[in-house]
Amino acid sequence: MSTYQYDLFVIGAGSGGVRASRMAAMTGAKVAVAEGSAMGGTCVNLGCVPKKLYAYAADFGHGFEDARGFGWQSERPAFDWQKLKTNRANEISRLNGIYDGLMDGAKVTVYRDFATIKDAHTVVVAGKEITAKRLLVAVGGWPFVPEIPGREHAITSNEIFDLHEFPQRLAVVGGGYIASEFASIFTGLGSRVTQIYRRDTLLRGFDDDIRHFVTEEMAKDGIEFRFNNNVTAIEKTASGLLLKLQDGEQLEVDQVLFATGRVPRTMNLGLEEVGVELNDNGAIKVNDQFQTSVPSIYALGDVIDRFQLTPVALAEAMTVVNQLFGDATRVMDYEYIPTAVFTHPNVGTVGLTEAEARERYGDITLYKSDFRPLKHTLSGSQERSFMKLIVDKASDRVVGLHMVGAEAGELTQGFAVAMKAGATKAVFDSTIGIHPTSAEEFVTMRTPAKG
Ligand code: NDP
Repeated sequence: MSTYQYDLFVIGAGSGGVRASRMAAMTGAKVAVAEGSAMGGTCVNLGCVPKKLYAYAADFGHGFEDARGFGWQSERPAFDWQKLKTNRANEISRLNGIYDGLMDGAKVTVYRDFATIKDAHTVVVAGKEITAKRLLVAVGGWPFVPEIPGREHAITSNEIFDLHEFPQRLAVVGGGYIASEFASIFTGLGSRVTQIYRRDTLLRGFDDDIRHFVTEEMAKDGIEFRFNNNVTAIEKTASGLLLKLQDGEQLEVDQVLFATGRVPRTMNLGLEEVGVELNDNGAIKVNDQFQTSVPSIYALGDVIDRFQLTPVALAEAMTVVNQLFGDATRVMDYEYIPTAVFTHPNVGTVGLTEAEARERYGDITLYKSDFRPLKHTLSGSQERSFMKLIVDKASDRVVGLHMVGAEAGELTQGFAVAMKAGATKAVFDSTIGIHPTSAEEFVTMRTPAKG
């Protein structure tokens, strides 16, 4: 008989922690989870879900403009920030309740407090020691803000959803997912947005054509960019915040959002004291089974900093549960992870960038399409879409698929299945398109583009 109170104690009830505890409990294991904040973690409370709700709100801003060309002649309605915040908060509370229900249903014990690790099998929650055969750390990440004078005046994605006043003038610092998404969202809602990025094109790590295309589209949408630049200081003034930029420019705004990355939330957990090794950036080091340097302690999700994406954390959780309570056959596969950036227009991507494909396969064929979507022939919007396929010449396999355009996130998911199944360009070519859609472009590109 086990001498421990639980078979598994999970620290953190975010996407990965909830999935792991629920699935482990459903195998018959005795499971507990500790969560000091709202159930669901970053994704549900301060990330994917509220962000997408706000992106929908922003889309209406474009929709009212686009509607005119289709005969709708009304004035653009006023936007009510307080109403959006209230409705979002109600929806998130509803989701928190659903998570509670899932835990109850799976008979997972929930400790409503932060936990620290005392030793390889013991955690401390609200002063109480609890033992478990295995511990799983799924505490996620936290926004990073560089040390500059006045950084206390900056906000992060933790605060932006609940700003007391709607920011008419917003500066966004960074060029990654969060910065680019919020720059688009607040532009759509009616803010005057300036995005400040230390390089010359957004979304480092994405395919270069996509980066250039989406940067141009976002500029057309009204975002003012300051590239190769950075904020060096922030001062509070009577009428807002004064940003001092590296090139000497001064910019007054109502709010400044720093979206300059997220760091693993490993501080003060007791990890190093019990011998859990961390990487240089503070992420927990794990092996292929998500086991840390202390064999009874596991970790997954943003805290191990492989891919900071909810669906990846969910898959990692399924792998850990299979390792610990199943037949241990499941391995985590990080190839062909599709992802979307909910900018306006969206970015959708799966597989390799052109540069990565060239490095891995050498000989590749590219297909590109840059077009005005049918909708915008009447809307009057100058927005364009872009699609790109990258094919390994030797195998004919489609190894990269990238898009900038409406609903790119929705559209990329299905293609990701095909690519994971090893679809070749010949398979794409033999697939009948759905007409008239943007997606059909991916199965009708026949003429290779110049490299
Ligand atoms: P990212 O790593 O995507 O971007 C961070 C940005 O901040 C980069 O542009 C980086 O520049 C810049 N930066 C870093 N340090 C500094 C500094 N000291 N001064 C100025 N700029 C700086 O992180 P995010 O915070 O945007 O998002 C975190 C993660 O969350 C993402 O990686 C993603 O995995 C996930 N996420 C996913 C979403 C989705 O799936 N749609 C949405 C939102 C987040 P540089 O490029 O030069 O390094």
